Amino acid sequence: MKFHLDDNELATCVSCGLCLPHCPTFRATGEEALSPRGRIAAIRAVHHDDAPVTPEFVSFMESCVQCRGCEPACPSGVHYGNLQEGVRETLAQRHRITPRWQRAAFAVLPRHRLLLAGSSALAVAQRMHLVPRRAGLTTLAVRRPQPLRATGTDVWLFTGCVMDAWMRDTHRSTAKVLDHLGVTFALPGKGGGCCGALHTHAGLTDAARHLAANVMSSMPGDAPIVVNSAGCGAALKEYGHLLGTPDAAVFGARVLDVHEFVAQHVDRLRPTRRVGPVIVQDPCHLRHVQKAHMAVRTVLAPVADLVELDDDGLCCGAGGAYSVMEPALAGQIRERKLASIARAGGGLVASANPGCAMHLAAAGLTVRHPIDILAEAL
Ligand code: SF4
Ligand code: SF4
Repeated sequence: MKFHLDDNELATCVSCGLCLPHCPTFRATGEEALSPRGRIAAIRAVHHDDAPVTPEFVSFMESCVQCRGCEPACPSGVHYGNLQEGVRETLAQRHRITPRWQRAAFAVLPRHRLLLAGSSALAVAQRMHLVPRRAGLTTLAVRRPQPLRATGTDVWLFTGCVMDAWMRDTHRSTAKVLDHLGVTFALPGKGGGCCGALHTHAGLTDAARHLAANVMSSMPGDAPIVVNSAGCGAALKEYGHLLGTPDAAVFGARVLDVHEFVAQHVDRLRPTRRVGPVIVQDPCHLRHVQKAHMAVRTVLAPVADLVELDDDGLCCGAGGAYSVMEPALAGQIRERKLASIARAGGGLVASANPGCAMHLAAAGLTVRHPIDILAEAL
């Protein structure tokens, strides 16, 4: 089987193994097959040597969190994320991964009213104890705040699908911080509700491209695009790669994680109080993909005493839908993060990605978005 990937990128790996300590699935299991090097060797065997696509091969691929912690560790510059996405695209097209129920669930994400109604129903079901704990969801609110209203045109504020349905409070905090800075924001127009990140991770690349084109149309012009979900921001920044057009690359260059944007104006923050110790958890798509994790510290430093973890940014196991699709391994990976948080003294954790926040909160931690913490101190 030939995968949708670049042969030159696949050839870049020299099998040195320096990425292994940075791979959460290798750290949790100690298995070479569940490391970046092992997965690349398996991909080469199928792609170049026509090895069969066995259930074991599929499970090696599905067990990858797509955290991309292996990329910054790689001296050869292997774009592992591209390789994994290419493999998943081919496997999904042949229905070897991403079952029908998952495709149906993802089809709801761009239908925002349906997503909001479904989320409310899910919240009610949680209160009736109809949602199994292994689903890994935090308790959702039955009622959510009113939607944001645009205040001007200085920047676009991307509100997303799940982020708006489940964490609208963080949008209100973002609006408060922007207002505090004297920055007005516009909201995406029609079609701007879902970035397609989860579709890309699941190998549903055509759907992701369609959503990306819609998102680009929903925020025309050249104003910066501010995003408060690390996973969505990473996806928007990589539209140039996803769509392969100059327009998509220009669009991606306009995208800023909200912390990157606020950090540019940090001298204008006028906090009225401090909030005490805050443990900073770096979402993989903020640290390894966007490389914007230091901006979180810049933004929080005026209002909190920051506490660092000692695990070198190892993934927490959330991985978008990964914690639902691979709950056992996601739980094993999370145990390492919980141990690191315990060594840091426990207490309030700041996480800039909804998936990580929910995954950690489901283990009993108190987790808040950094912008929520900042907004409360203003
Ligand atoms: S993306 Fe993450 S889980 Fe997958 S091979 Fe790389 S480090 Fe391991
Ligand atoms: S992906 Fe990079 S770090 Fe990992 S084995 Fe290959 S060359 Fe070495």
